[in-house]
Formats: sequence, structure tokens, C-alpha cells
Amino acid sequence: MMHTTLQNDLDQMATAGLMRTLTDKTGAINFCSNDYLGLAGDPRLSDAAVMAMKQYGFGSRASRLVTGQTQPVELLEQTIAKQKQVDECLVFNSGYSANTGIIPALMSREDIIFSDKLNHASIVDGILLSRAEFKRYPHCDMAALEEALKQSGKHRRRLIVTDKVFSMDGDVAPMATIIDLAKRYDAWVMVDQAHSFGVLEDSDASVDIQMGTLSKAAGCFGAYVCGKSPLRSYLINHARSFIYTTALPAAVTEAARAAVNIIGSSEGVTLRKKVLSNADYVRQQLKQMGFDTLQSTTPIIPVILKDATRAVAASQELYKAGIYVSAIRPPTVPVNTARLRITVTAKHTQAELDMLVNAMRKI
Ligand SMILES: *Cc1c(COP(=O)(O)O)cnc(C)c1O
Repeated sequence: MMHTTLQNDLDQMATAGLMRTLTDKTGAINFCSNDYLGLAGDPRLSDAAVMAMKQYGFGSRASRLVTGQTQPVELLEQTIAKQKQVDECLVFNSGYSANTGIIPALMSREDIIFSDKLNHASIVDGILLSRAEFKRYPHCDMAALEEALKQSGKHRRRLIVTDKVFSMDGDVAPMATIIDLAKRYDAWVMVDQAHSFGVLEDSDASVDIQMGTLSKAAGCFGAYVCGKSPLRSYLINHARSFIYTTALPAAVTEAARAAVNIIGSSEGVTLRKKVLSNADYVRQQLKQMGFDTLQSTTPIIPVILKDATRAVAASQELYKAGIYVSAIRPPTVPVNTARLRITVTAKHTQAELDMLVNAMRKI
């Protein structure tokens, strides 16, 4: 019985072109990785991990509050806080668990949260878990955000939360306006830097809560939250996804520390420039062909094809040409905005970029 019910559901998804499957794409040139700076395969990260494993073993044995608190994770938090020039940092096990932990720790039934319509699913889940009043505003629409702030009644706490770089559109949130509105309407601001950390200049020092992941440009795993004291202490005491989970292994945090150090060095600046110029090149070429790339200005370049089936066919066509670009369909993106989502890294060669551009021309 159960299996027929589940199969019927999946059959319907398949008919609508919305079925997802797990497939190994090794071998094709990868244009959908979040490894923006090419650090995931860097031997300095794996060397740091091996050294840590030899010293600490592989597993971390317990949660941070029990026996998972070790020097490597402390050093990682200090390194991130210093680089971001903020008081303090707390590491979480992933971006998903950071967002589903931070938001319910800070906000509850008496509170209200204003969230960009295109915010990442982990933010949405964090808001739902918090049980706070949930106000979505149209994507980057600051007039609508102001109106919502004005209209909202009495609440204990108010929070505006936004992705810095939107993961499916590749555009950047208007942070200056958001910060200004927050001041005027007495709200806190939380920014999710998942796709900006290591890729864009750090410029959110005045934001109350900076959250980001170590799994994208940093090429590792885990996430951080940064802010002014006592944010760290507060989260250690209230964030359930921090409290009730086993700490990251030292191998992971030491590799992450190596990555954060690279990002903060002159090499990081060079890699950042390279990924942005590679992205500019691809975007210009696509625009010249008449493709709609929305307001993308980052290494995330959407190519809107509208129809889900068409997006999947285009992705398959590229795959035959040895290029992997994923098709993104509803519910990840709004209905009728199915797209190819190209991501460019600092390690793509000019020849690879041209291969992509030429294959796109045939679509
Ligand atoms: C990827 C992503 C996350 C989740 O981070 P993980 O470390 O992969 O769990 C959170 N927010 C945004 C905006 C993301 O793109």
C-alpha cells in the first residue's frame, strides 16, 4: 500500500518534468559547483585534515557542549572573527543547521520576521520552526519591505533576513537600504553569506547577524555565525541545532581554517578577481546571444528557459557535449521560471569557458 501511494506521487512528478534523481556527473566539465575558488581539491586543505586526523582521530566523540570543544574549532572561530573584524564567531555543522538553529533561537511566537521571497529554503525552515509571524516581501523590493515594516503591529522582536547573493538568481541584496530600514523601523538584520563569503568583498560588518557556510567558496563543510557579543553565548545556550548535535571533526575544522586563511590572503584576492572576471565573460557572451540572465552580477548565472521540460532538455544537450549544467525547476524556483543555473569558478580555463559558450549557442 505505502509503496503504491509513494510511486503514484513520483509518477506525477515525472509526468510534470519535476522528478529529481541522484546521478554521478564525474567526467563532464562542471559548471554547477559551488567551489568558486577551486579550494575543495586544494592539497593544503587535505594536508591540514590529515594532520588533524592523526592528532585528534577522525570522530569528534560528542557535542561541543560535552567533549567536542577542542583547540581546532576555537582557532577556526577566532580566525573567522578576526578576518571579518567582528567580536565573535560560532561554528555550526552546516549552513542548513545554522539557519534552522539561529532563527528559532532568536525569534519566537511574539516576534515577526521579514524575509525576501527568494531566500534559501533553510531560512524558510528556520522561520517556520521559530513560529514567529512570517512576512515575505517580493524579491529585493525595498518599498514593499518598508510598507510591511510600517504595517506590522506590536512585536517583541523584529528581524529582517536576506540572502546576500541569491542562490538561484545570482543577484545581490540591497544591503545598505535594508540596514537603513532596519534602523528606522527598529528591526535586527541577518544576512546569509553562503554564496558571497570568499567571492565578494566582506562588507556586512554593521549587520547584526552574519551567517555563512564553509561548504561553498571555502571548499569544506560547516558554517559560521558572526556578530557582537553576547550573540555567541546566546546561541550556545539557545540554538538547538548547535546544542543537540555532534561537533564537526577536527579534520573538517582544520581544513576550513586553512581555507579561511587562503581566502584572507593576497591569493584569495587574486582568486576572487579571477572568478568574477570569468563570470563576467560568460554572462556577456550569453547576453549577446539574447539569453535572459536576470540581474546576475556574481558567479551564479541563471539562464531563464521558463518551461521545466525545456530546461531539462537543455541540460541533457549540454551533458552530451561534455558539460554539466544543472536544470533548476519548481519548487526550487517559481513556476514558469525554470532555468539552467551556470556557476563559474576561478579554476575554469578560457578554453572551458569557450566550450560552454559554444555549446550554449546551439541551444
Ligand atoms: C547552500 C546554502 C545554505 C546551506 O548551506 P550548507 O552548508 O550547504 O548546509 C544556506 N543558505 C544559502 C543561501 C545557501 O546557498
